[in-house]
Amino acid sequence: MFGFHNFNTQKPSHTGEDSVKRLKQALADCDAVVIGAGAGLSTSAGFTYSGERFERYFHDFIEKYRLPDMYSGGFYVMRLPPEELWAYWSRYIYVNRCMNPPKPVYEKLLELVREKDYFVLTTNVDHCFQKAGFDKHRLFYTQGDYGLWQCSVPCHAKTYDNAETVRAMVEAQGFVIAEDGALTVPEGITLKMTVPTELVPLCPVCGKPMSMNLRADDTFVEDEGWHRAAERYSDFLRRHQNGKVLFLETAVGWNTPGIVKYSFWRMVKEWQRATYACLNYGEAYAPEEIAGKSICIDGDIGEILNQL
Ligand SMILES: [Zn+2]
Repeated sequence: MFGFHNFNTQKPSHTGEDSVKRLKQALADCDAVVIGAGAGLSTSAGFTYSGERFERYFHDFIEKYRLPDMYSGGFYVMRLPPEELWAYWSRYIYVNRCMNPPKPVYEKLLELVREKDYFVLTTNVDHCFQKAGFDKHRLFYTQGDYGLWQCSVPCHAKTYDNAETVRAMVEAQGFVIAEDGALTVPEGITLKMTVPTELVPLCPVCGKPMSMNLRADDTFVEDEGWHRAAERYSDFLRRHQNGKVLFLETAVGWNTPGIVKYSFWRMVKEWQRATYACLNYGEAYAPEEIAGKSICIDGDIGEILNQL
């Protein structure tokens, strides 16, 4: 694995007032764009995991278990009986996977690359690229997807679309799905905090509980779709390595920098005609070794994209 220590990270990044202009030019000039996306992209689109949005759908769970945010709650409820665990997780999956984010940040990003040969590498699991209309054959979501279940053992390497069951689960708790897909609570209804036992998902092969297809430990299933996406991504890179490629990194943090950030740095360093763009709220940065081929823009991703 390519490590952080390979680069001198002490020097400030190559920034300036003309960064937006330079990125515009780079977008116009390039033959291909590799988008690397992290969690901040969805945050910028309004997918927040705490505050109002969390309280609106989980107020009963917050009250009962004093959960600080949706994400930590997802881990906490793992110790609860499956009927309660899936009541929580079905809401979680529904609001993050099935509902659209409030702001069209992903749509704007698609608009910028639509005419290009592009590929997306992302650690995001919330299905936002698909929802915005990105070609699913140009996506590699390395860490899983809220819309997929797998055997928790796992006894076999397959994933299962959970949309239908999740819908039944939220409706069984008293939610009503509006015409636009929004999750609503009818007046006077007290939500149930459990789902019926018959909706608890079990592995169709071994009968053990199903789990989310999210990379949390070594039980994560890389199914056929995952491997095909990985291959398509490698093919894309091979095809373009001598071309003018723009590596457009959007909102990638320092939690798992190996997947997007470091691999982008390495390719930009090795590929003569590549350009690296780092868009990040508070942490726009490029290492000294590739500073001359880099464009760093600090700020809200949605606002930056709107200037392009
Ligand atoms: Zn199984």
